[in-house]
Amino acid sequence: MSKHLFTACLGTETHTWAPLPTDIPAFEATYLVRDGEHPEAVNMFGVPLQIWKRRAEAKGWRVSEGLCAFATPSGLTNKATHEALRDEILDKLGAAMPVDGVMLSLHGAMVAHGYDDCEEDLVLGIRSIVGPNVPITCELDLHCHLSRAFVENVTAFVIYKEYPHIDFADRAEEVWALMEGVLENRINPQISIHDCRMIGLYHTTREPMQGFVQRMRDLEGTGTVLSVSLGHGFPWANIPHVGTRTVVITDDNRKAGDELAKQLGNELWELRDEITPPFIELDDAIDRALKVDSGPVVFADIADNPGGGGAGDSTFIAHALLARGVENCAVGGIWDPAAVAICQSAGIGATLDLRLGGKAGPWSGPPLDMKATVRAVYDNLMIQGLGNSKRRLGDTVMITANGIEYVVHTNRSQNVHPSTFTEAGIDFMAKKVLVVKSMQHFYSNYAAISDHVYYVSTPGVVDHEITRLPLERAARPAWPMDDDPWSTDANRAW
Ligand SMILES: [Zn+2]
Repeated sequence: MSKHLFTACLGTETHTWAPLPTDIPAFEATYLVRDGEHPEAVNMFGVPLQIWKRRAEAKGWRVSEGLCAFATPSGLTNKATHEALRDEILDKLGAAMPVDGVMLSLHGAMVAHGYDDCEEDLVLGIRSIVGPNVPITCELDLHCHLSRAFVENVTAFVIYKEYPHIDFADRAEEVWALMEGVLENRINPQISIHDCRMIGLYHTTREPMQGFVQRMRDLEGTGTVLSVSLGHGFPWANIPHVGTRTVVITDDNRKAGDELAKQLGNELWELRDEITPPFIELDDAIDRALKVDSGPVVFADIADNPGGGGAGDSTFIAHALLARGVENCAVGGIWDPAAVAICQSAGIGATLDLRLGGKAGPWSGPPLDMKATVRAVYDNLMIQGLGNSKRRLGDTVMITANGIEYVVHTNRSQNVHPSTFTEAGIDFMAKKVLVVKSMQHFYSNYAAISDHVYYVSTPGVVDHEITRLPLERAARPAWPMDDDPWSTDANRAW
């Protein structure tokens, strides 16, 4: 029998003390699509909607697509912005009723002024329209928070397994399979959650997290297990339910799911000291780079990752490279709309006095005052994102000064692919050091071109040291602030 589905996407990853707020223009600058009219270059959060539409239409089912809105991770979302985007989705759903199912592409860590959990707020609104029996299924980024009310009001959800998030299309297929199974009365998903009482950052590109991801995969399809996920959580959110959780979805077997979720949580707890990424100090990274004969060496400027709320204009690494006299480097990139406008006006070939970066706040470091030469100017530059997705750098210039080439752009964007350099006219393989502003999404594409990739510790808004973060509202006890979070049950969100 033909079915009618409603799909939508609303998301950002909110760093609750980052300097730049998130408003409607921030969504417009990243990805804001109405009525399913996606451009050729689709944002990764829009890809699931396209997959679900294709799957539905292949079965002769009808899809009504609502808003698809995603903003580059930043500070707290403006209250009116969240409410306007939420209401646009709810209004469209109301007009599309009756529907047989709702499918959502969400991030899971969107926080607004007045809303600790925007996904919970959206799902409660959807539930109030569709009633208790219409299934709601979601795809979530693994940096999600998972509030209790959110989990209790959705039918099933699948979280990315990989960080970098190279598997978003595969997980979308699994969300589809769950919705299809529910609508065809083949499965009755039951969600089990275990709170790991941990707040942390876990890369899945090395052991032992690689093995943990494989273990989750191996469990899927055994017995009544439909899906296994790990919600890593997003540590830079001062909300009560920040933290890491294991998720097991069974076919009508909550007891087995609860036991497995707890078992997996215990296994992760045992790995806690080994799964923290290998960060190194900036001076050590430069020492190591100077010993490498053939480049490029990759420095990840993790603390200014625009994909985690950093402004993308910090200068600590560039200053250190200049101070140490390291030449033939490329910094990709620096977010600085004012500098771009000045260089556009000066034109290709011009040499001018320029103040670059270091503008968003104290965490951006001192600006770089330089005599810059404008090498290239681009209108609305597009670069490669994760998988087949695209990213928008906006108007962009490539400048050189003191042996360093800089990609300077108007749209905040994480560097996840060397096309950030090539599209700006930089031969990245000929460079000694490449500086990329990213926590981990850069890793797969840069490890493919360099044997020397360093996660460099600098001051910054995306500080990797969890015990230094101002998480006054986080449920406690929680590791690593508390060595043994299992000693008491006090004040836990779950
Ligand atoms: Zn993420």
